[in-house]
Amino acid sequence: MARRVVDVLVPVALNQTYSYRVPDGLDLAPGDVVSVPLGAREVLAVVWADNANPDPRLHNRLKDIDEKIDVPPLREELRSFVDWVASYTLSARGMVLRMTLRMGEHLGPERARLGVRLVGPPPQRMTSARNRVIGLLSDGLLHGKSDAAREAGVSASVIDGLVDEGTLAIEDMPREKIVAPDPSFATPDFSPDQETAAATLQDMCAKDGFNVALLDGVTGSGKTEVYFEAVAEIIRRGKQALILMPEIALTGQFLDRFAKRFGTRPLEWHSELTPRTRARNWAAIAAGEAQIVVGARSALFLPYVNLGLIVVDEEHDQAYKQSDGAHYHARDMAVVRGHIAKIPVILSSATPSVETEVNARKGRYTRVSLPARFGGQVMPHIEAIDLRREGPQRGKFISPRLAEEINIAVERKEQALLFLNRRGYAPLTLCRACGHRFSCNICDAWLVDHRFRQRLVCHHCGFSMPRPHQCPQCGAEESLAAIGPGVERLQEEAAALFPEARTMVLSSDLVTSIETMRSELNEIAEGRVDIIIGTQLVAKGHNFPRLNLVGVVDADLGLGNGDPRAAERTFQLLNQVIGRAGREKGYGVGYLQTHQPEHPVMKALVANDRKAFYDSEIEARERALYPPFGRLASLIVSAGDRPSAEGFGRKLVSAAPHDERVQVLGPAEAPLAVIKGRYRFRVLVKSARNVDLSDYLRRWLADAPKTKGNLNLEVDVDPQSFL
Ligand code: ADP
Ligand code: ZN
Repeated sequence: MARRVVDVLVPVALNQTYSYRVPDGLDLAPGDVVSVPLGAREVLAVVWADNANPDPRLHNRLKDIDEKIDVPPLREELRSFVDWVASYTLSARGMVLRMTLRMGEHLGPERARLGVRLVGPPPQRMTSARNRVIGLLSDGLLHGKSDAAREAGVSASVIDGLVDEGTLAIEDMPREKIVAPDPSFATPDFSPDQETAAATLQDMCAKDGFNVALLDGVTGSGKTEVYFEAVAEIIRRGKQALILMPEIALTGQFLDRFAKRFGTRPLEWHSELTPRTRARNWAAIAAGEAQIVVGARSALFLPYVNLGLIVVDEEHDQAYKQSDGAHYHARDMAVVRGHIAKIPVILSSATPSVETEVNARKGRYTRVSLPARFGGQVMPHIEAIDLRREGPQRGKFISPRLAEEINIAVERKEQALLFLNRRGYAPLTLCRACGHRFSCNICDAWLVDHRFRQRLVCHHCGFSMPRPHQCPQCGAEESLAAIGPGVERLQEEAAALFPEARTMVLSSDLVTSIETMRSELNEIAEGRVDIIIGTQLVAKGHNFPRLNLVGVVDADLGLGNGDPRAAERTFQLLNQVIGRAGREKGYGVGYLQTHQPEHPVMKALVANDRKAFYDSEIEARERALYPPFGRLASLIVSAGDRPSAEGFGRKLVSAAPHDERVQVLGPAEAPLAVIKGRYRFRVLVKSARNVDLSDYLRRWLADAPKTKGNLNLEVDVDPQSFL
């Protein structure tokens, strides 16, 4: 009798499923995680569907499923989501599946952690290392073995030696229990606005069904406190909730705030978890033991058992778009997952994306507003400083007016933040003698001077070289000049202007891990810094109680780059950075150093007129048929040489199916024309809103010439970057 056949999806970059026979006695259903032989390897796979009519000729050549892995099956809802995301983004299904199985090879029974305890008399031979261990364990409690070694500053063999001597004993550490969050642990006293907003969200969560709310509140209005009430409702209903955040906003301060409200920290999911924690958290989520998960965008793909709510905090943030592997936008896909799972989704922001704002204006999303700051704090007062009239002297970047205001703030023992979205010391280094500019050999980019590290660095490929003392072109000595500011240079200027003040630079290249970043943010929050100099790392989600002044050093920086969202991005970023000021006491002020104070973005910020900005931006998008009034996709072709990339781009474009609702623009050399030695051309595809652009691309690429050799083609549906 023919045996049962199932189709499995393997978590590698392949779209199709493979058929396997089910051995007798193995009970399998779609969603089960299995291991299968693939080529010479054993790989993890997921049963995707029954195959009722396998090709009889192939049947005998099919291999057997090896075994069923002892984890809960991936639910139908998640499998549909994987299929949907793959289809929409034109990614291989296996690649999307891989994101749901991110516990990798760490599946299977968890290894017990070993602990040590002091149980016997001191050893015959005492050394100082042994003495430190015994001192540490003199409390008689069970300590993690590797923790004990680290804390005592000894190697594991010192501990093993003491075990052999009978001084210490090895025991298994008990498994850490996940403490259930308590929805009534500490409910805040809400203002009437907050009360209304919280009640609306709670009602939405009390019923099943898909629904999207835009929690729209100014910075400091208490959006977090308010959506915590929705989370509380989900906990009461015994369901799971996911809170998505941009990775760098996932701070210790946030976890503590959660703990203050719910009595315990939530489960975390981000790129820096150790493999052990990753595996444990995955299992806890799949088993439904973890009720609340706070995570970066990849947490969207985890196997929740009864997901009841997704919150997308800072929904407008660009970090939600993944730009390698599957190019998905986590905010949009959160709405998709909510739709498939029939659950509510809350999008939270002080400056919603234009797409979300339009959905709220059209009534597709429910707007829940928090128009004022909590506790009577007023919104920061914003002024422009016109660099054409009152700029700093040459080679300096802090204008006299801004310097004076910072001085006053520091004297009042308040904090000031100087914001500049540029890492390093200077974006360009050139030779004063011959004009030579230092650029990367393999990218079309200048090398950025990083003085702390004493190197010139390419921000695209990571290439770096020591800062030379001689120009490589003309041989002049000590002739190199730094052009333009980065945060490190700003710190130098601030230190000279305000010698008494304590300064700190916060920039992603200087923080080595999420942990060190968390501790630096704590230092600032505790007031041990007077002037913070930071990139957009500081813009997100932190509360610095004494910060009342924000100076934006170059407000025009993001405007002139040809990106259709440049104005929106600049508005959001500056609004958010200045929103750090005056959150707890005193008055917040923001200064925008700009060459174009008449620009609509600057005018809207200074007038605190958000609506004016959205009105004009929405109108401009509608006129140009940009999202959300039209659709966009990018095809990015790259090759080791320029003619191949351009030639393939041409062939691709000439193979595009004709459709009068679709415009195919390009190929055009990309603004970043060379990255890592690869030449890049872009094709922009633009269509009316009612066109299924993914389907159009699929038809196109099925018949188009295929990449081979050194050629590469990337497909980016709903691109966020146009570089
Ligand atoms: P947002 O996310 O809108 O910027 P937050 O939720 O961070 O605002 O709130 C800003 C500050 O106000 C936080 O320190 C928060 O703890 C405090 N806060 C907001 N609402 C309340 C409340 N009802 N009771 C006590 N503190 C509140
Ligand atoms: Zn480079």
